[in-house]
Amino acid sequence: MLQTPQASHSLTSSSTNLVQKKQKKQKHLSAMAVRKPGVIALFDVDGTLTAPRKGATPKIVEFMRQLREVVTVGVVGGSDLVKISEQLGKTVIDDYDYAFSENGLVAHKDGKLIGTESLKTFLGEEKLKEFINFTLHYLADLDIPIKRGTFIEFRSGMLNISPIGRNCSQEERDEFEKYDKVHNFRAKMVSVLREKFAHLNLTFSIGGQISFDVFPQGWDKTYCLRYLDDFHEIHFFGDKTYKGGNDHEIYESKRTIGHTVTSPEDTMEQCKALFLANP
Ligand SMILES: [Mg+2]
Repeated sequence: MLQTPQASHSLTSSSTNLVQKKQKKQKHLSAMAVRKPGVIALFDVDGTLTAPRKGATPKIVEFMRQLREVVTVGVVGGSDLVKISEQLGKTVIDDYDYAFSENGLVAHKDGKLIGTESLKTFLGEEKLKEFINFTLHYLADLDIPIKRGTFIEFRSGMLNISPIGRNCSQEERDEFEKYDKVHNFRAKMVSVLREKFAHLNLTFSIGGQISFDVFPQGWDKTYCLRYLDDFHEIHFFGDKTYKGGNDHEIYESKRTIGHTVTSPEDTMEQCKALFLANP
């Protein structure tokens, strides 16, 4: 009889698997029982759970797994799910009770998609096209030392616009950042777009080294809070909580208790003090 390697493996170890599954389930249930009801720890990704643009270290992955045993955990990142998965791991939607990508415009709970909102639906194709066409013309006329590719990245809930182009190298990225600090290309472009498209009620947010984001008003990280009505105590941890930072609105929100962190190590220390001090 022909058998695939997996089939033969599962036959020989099926009883072991069953015991392991049972133990895992019991462990999960006991963890659920001690978790504080109505309390969630919600984390920004970049600079909070990982070093900027880097992946999570095994240490923080293990820490978050332990934290999840005492409190419901969630992540909210500005990037799309693909990028968040690159940073926090492919199993991110299962590793956290809530995983909000694009500030919550794409929302997962217990590994399942529970909601999406898109710029396309919200603005409509006509207005979107008008905005993109104007932006492309502006970028084409912009005289900067080097240009690469991917000048407009279309995400489900925002446009990310980069004068140099997103697929530049790290070195080119650093150079652009220095150059932009002197010439304010991004700030100037934002003021032009803001005036031209005032009727669309858009928010412009300059973040990172080479780009800025454009999204409808209110589509910042507070967007994800609509999925957390069951929680009376929402602890939010973020590194950019200052005015103009991408964590500011959710940090300031009446619905959250905001915590400013300086690094993943600081996040772990603050969580230990808050949730793990008296086991
Ligand atoms: Mg951050």
